[in-house]
Amino acid sequence: MAPAPTASESIPPIAQPFVSERARKLLDVVEKFVDEECIPADAVYHAQIGLGEARWQGHPSVMDDLKRKAQSLGLWNMFLPKNHFKEGPQFTNVEYGLMAEQLGKSITASEACNCAAPDTGNMEVIARYGSPAQKERWLKPLMAGEIRSAFLMTEPDIASSDGSNIRLRMERKGDHYVLNGSKWWSSGAGDDRCKIFITMGQTAPDHPDRYQRQSMMLVPADTPGITVHRMLSVYGFDDAPHGHGHITFTNVRVPLDAMILGEGRGNEIMQGRLGPGRIHHAMRGIGASEKALEWLINRLNDERKVPFGKPLAEHGVLLEWVAKARIEIDACRLIVLNAAIKTDQRDAKFALREIAEAKVKVPQVALEVIDRAVQAYGAAGVCQDTPLAYMWAHLRTLRIADGPDEVHLQQLGKRENRTRRDAIKAKLARQAQRSDELFRTMGVEKVALGAQKFQTKSKL
Ligand SMILES: Cc1cc2nc3c(=O)[nH]c(=O)nc-3n(C[C@H](O)[C@H](O)[C@H](O)COP(=O)(O)OP(=O)(O)OC[C@H]3O[C@@H](n4cnc5c(N)ncnc54)[C@H](O)[C@@H]3O)c2cc1C
Repeated sequence: MAPAPTASESIPPIAQPFVSERARKLLDVVEKFVDEECIPADAVYHAQIGLGEARWQGHPSVMDDLKRKAQSLGLWNMFLPKNHFKEGPQFTNVEYGLMAEQLGKSITASEACNCAAPDTGNMEVIARYGSPAQKERWLKPLMAGEIRSAFLMTEPDIASSDGSNIRLRMERKGDHYVLNGSKWWSSGAGDDRCKIFITMGQTAPDHPDRYQRQSMMLVPADTPGITVHRMLSVYGFDDAPHGHGHITFTNVRVPLDAMILGEGRGNEIMQGRLGPGRIHHAMRGIGASEKALEWLINRLNDERKVPFGKPLAEHGVLLEWVAKARIEIDACRLIVLNAAIKTDQRDAKFALREIAEAKVKVPQVALEVIDRAVQAYGAAGVCQDTPLAYMWAHLRTLRIADGPDEVHLQQLGKRENRTRRDAIKAKLARQAQRSDELFRTMGVEKVALGAQKFQTKSKL
């Protein structure tokens, strides 16, 4: 049996010129670490999370072992893109994207390499917009993997996909801001290592520009007045010890220097935070899809399963699922790598369209691939005996988190229409005019393109 190509040997030709030798080498180390250390540890991690309240106290010790191992292999903070940050090991978005694909195959791998959301996006915010004092206090321990963080934007009583709706009140009173309001889906808030909440709120409710009403602050998680009421479940999974918190702020006093970048800059920071994060999510989604495909192929070749007299691999429809999965995953990978390449060429704003394409397309494809694998396993596919059910639940949330599909599609549609409509109208008019000239100069009676065939046929 020929050895399977390594991750670096599988880089699509279109991306190869953008991947350094150093990144190729590390990519193979990531692949090996995920395959041999993290995936086997996933079930142990799950088993080490306690029951009841213990689920939110402490964390599985196997994670500490994995972190030590990852650091010894040089797999640490690979996510901070080199064109914008001097912190981190200096990889591009394409290079890290390829690594994130590998990390997406395991539930422990991203955290083991200090590359897990929401810390990655939060570290980017502090690295990009934070003051030197904020970096010293929060970025340093986050980059060392000593503490974790949460990003508090979404609120229960408003449509949070529109950042201008965010209304947790941040009132300046003397040398403090006083915060009142509620947040939910604060991912990571359940983890007792989570020490800092990057919190979005309203500092100027009457500002004429709706998008300058909000600001962002670094709020220590243990500030008096903050109450974590409950953890929200995702299709029944509680995602312990990480969790998704429902939190209230009651007269929470925060010093003025907790403000990031300045009052009214909240939406700007939020946009800056989400770009590379969406590429990371998408590439992890590709990894999850590849893993689901592996499980599908494994089931097709399970010699014990012989429905209606022949193995599953001989029932044509299942091979068609394998083929479709292969095509769709490969197409998605190109979409994401293209977004990453364009982001590296300048920044996330420059690659807005490509990032939105990846953000929408990958979870949809991943869900289809996982669903086919679930189907191939029959009842086993929906229970705890395969990783598929949990993967499906997680991937499903990516069609909502970081902005629902519909918002991205509407923005994409609007942009495509706005930027192209005039040029398209002018081009079609030019082509019609040229066609008219050709009819005249060639002395042919003018007929519409579709009608031409019809007339010819009817003459026969
Ligand atoms: C697992 C998970 C983790 C999350 N983690 C975090 C986190 O760490 N921090 C955080 O702040 N938030 C987090 N979120 C919340 C997530 O970002 C929000 O749910 C998302 O932004 C949508 O906001 P909303 O739920 O208020 O829905 P709404 O804004 O009320 O939208 C509801 C629906 O309305 C429709 N809709 C909205 N706008 C449009 C439009 N323009 N055109 C057409 N249809 C539209 C869409 O179908 C959309 O799904 C998380 C969510 C999940 C599920």
